[in-house]
Amino acid sequence: MEIACLDLEGVLVPEIWIAFAEKTGIEELKKTTRDEPDYNVLMNYRLDLLRQHGLGLKEIQEVIATLAPLDGAADFVDWLRERFQVVILSDTFYEFASPLMKQLGYPTLLCHKLEIDSDGNVADYRLRQANPKRQAVVGFKSMYYRTIAAGDSYNDTTMLAEADAGILFHAPDNVIDEFPQFPAVHTFSELKREFIRASNRDITL
Ligand SMILES: [Mg+2]
Repeated sequence: MEIACLDLEGVLVPEIWIAFAEKTGIEELKKTTRDEPDYNVLMNYRLDLLRQHGLGLKEIQEVIATLAPLDGAADFVDWLRERFQVVILSDTFYEFASPLMKQLGYPTLLCHKLEIDSDGNVADYRLRQANPKRQAVVGFKSMYYRTIAAGDSYNDTTMLAEADAGILFHAPDNVIDEFPQFPAVHTFSELKREFIRASNRDITL
């Protein structure tokens, strides 16, 4: 059997922090790893902002519940689950992703976790492991599963390289230029074709 590994943000749902910043009007939350390459510094900055604005987990989840998956994403996940075992490998947090996962029919999600204090505030965060996307593929390979992975950004490229086949989806030009070894597509119908091409089974549209 084959496992399809999908990135979440930028592939199936919008970038959650950016969309959250737009919904709440907190412009400072638009800062990303491109602006602040030290992830721990960036996350502590974000958690400080949530505290300053009095946003606990409940308020955050209410805002995220108003976001929707990208156009065609839910249908694509349904299509993929009929043909592959589907696992979503993401650098988001379960608590943020859950309102969006509901709209995608709760596929399997491996991501990080927040620590919520007794007042319902986000106190801290726990990363699942180092290099989590690549390590998940390593794990599936150790179980003799064939893996096909798709993602949109730098944090996906070690996963794409580790997989039996890697696909760039919705990737910006600089990522496409830097990783010409991966096919790059921009629509869900093209992505279906790439999964069919990468599969070693006889799959049809
Ligand atoms: Mg992404």
